[in-house]
Amino acid sequence: MQSSEVFVGSIDQGTTSTRFLIINRDGAPVASHQVEFGQIYPHPGWHEHDPLELVESVETCIAGAVEFFESQGFSRTSIACVGITNQRETTIVWDHETGEPLYNAIVWTDTRSQAIVAELKSRPGASKLQSLCGLPLSTYSSATKLLWMLEHVPRVREAFERGTLAFGTVDAWLVYRLNGGPDANVFVSDSTNASRTMFVNLETLRYDDSLLDFFGIKGKLHLPRIVPSSDSSAYGVIASGTLARAPIMGCLGDQSAALVGQKGFSPGMAKNTYGTGCFLLYNVGEKPVFSKHGLLTTVAYHFGGKPVYALEGSIAVAGSGVKFLQDNLSFFQNSREVNDLAVTVEDNGGCVFVTAFSGLFAPYWIDDAKGTIFGITQFTQKGHIARATLEATCFQTKAILDAMEKDSGSALTELAVDGGMSNSDLAMQTQADLISIPVYRPKMRETTALGAAIAAGLAAGIWRNFAELRDINRAGGTVFEPQVTREESTAKFEQWEKAVRMSKGWVS
Ligand code: ADP
Repeated sequence: MQSSEVFVGSIDQGTTSTRFLIINRDGAPVASHQVEFGQIYPHPGWHEHDPLELVESVETCIAGAVEFFESQGFSRTSIACVGITNQRETTIVWDHETGEPLYNAIVWTDTRSQAIVAELKSRPGASKLQSLCGLPLSTYSSATKLLWMLEHVPRVREAFERGTLAFGTVDAWLVYRLNGGPDANVFVSDSTNASRTMFVNLETLRYDDSLLDFFGIKGKLHLPRIVPSSDSSAYGVIASGTLARAPIMGCLGDQSAALVGQKGFSPGMAKNTYGTGCFLLYNVGEKPVFSKHGLLTTVAYHFGGKPVYALEGSIAVAGSGVKFLQDNLSFFQNSREVNDLAVTVEDNGGCVFVTAFSGLFAPYWIDDAKGTIFGITQFTQKGHIARATLEATCFQTKAILDAMEKDSGSALTELAVDGGMSNSDLAMQTQADLISIPVYRPKMRETTALGAAIAAGLAAGIWRNFAELRDINRAGGTVFEPQVTREESTAKFEQWEKAVRMSKGWVS
């Protein structure tokens, strides 16, 4: 090791686990640590995390990774800065004076705000929201989760009335706590996370009074200051613990981080991340494009100067469908075995699985769709259901790409992929077959963590510009070329669309 070698730390706070990676100037992780934390499901459709456990998980990961790093002969003082990437929309409220959380975090997958969404949709002005903030009214955004807490949790309501209620997405919460809480009071959110709340005007990247008014929270809530995703001072400094005094210099919502980690810096580039859910982001450049086909508009990244926007298609269930086969149906012990099980059969054997465990997201937006398996016969094996589970995400990706093509007027030529489920070769081959373009999977798949490191490293001057990042994480990737005709894939897709139509409206 050269004594001048510098590293970037990357906190990746995901839905099912937290990681900390220490990344070198070539974009390669040299140390990492990962922990899972509690998933709280109090009722069907509800999904919570303990906010303090999220912070602890970050601290544990930092300690674990730094211990390994130092055992390799490196010093923690060579970690020049830290970046954060996080699960988006997940909503946390705390007392502004004490810094203590007032309720569990309501996770992005949680659908408890359905009745609130239905009521909001009937209010005047509801149809104009998306053209301001880029998002449709749904259970998914932070706004409706916050309104649910205000309506149902007396402690939250009281703090709101008293004027001490602080609201934040996971980035704001982590930055606040890592800086030491109310003493330091570093209360900021990066533009990509803030753009997921429904409170922010996408063009100005400021809180919009008409949006705050629509949700009835104008002037009564402590909201984080919105800052660029890459900034050398706004995010403060880690106050204590293993990396005490390390500056936080970058922050991106997880999907934005993956786009940055895939270096999707030019308009027309896209990435798809197959994690718990699946998220396709398509860079549209410096002007937001508002979708007419069921997609969201979001901030891709904001590195000072002009923000860059993306069209986004989100799928609620991807890797979590694999987890369902593992945890609920005991098909296998580890997610990676889904591939082996799925290749025991030649095709889906006529099974189509609409994995609508919490409705269907883009481009369908059907809140009352239910998980449904069509085509089961005496012939059906576990392998067919495993295949159908993987295919469900690939079909929805195809539907999103079709919508993006209509909105943007141009077709994609290659899809860059990452995330846990992208490890399945069968899933990625199926994806290429269905969308009839090559699918590119980099060798190092921690692109989300890499993206956060890039955001921080650009602010710290470790990389000076995008050109310096070009060759990072390029070698050794895999390209999946389409192997079936367009006619074959169209026929399969039509069957899927029929299954989607039939999955609606079931009342249990
Ligand atoms: P997140 O950041 O949302 O927690 P990850 O990118 O870590 O998600 O992916 C985790 C998801 O990917 C899990 O739901 C898991 O079931 C799935 N997964 C992990 N490895 C594989 C694999 N080899 N094949 C298919 N699915 C996988």
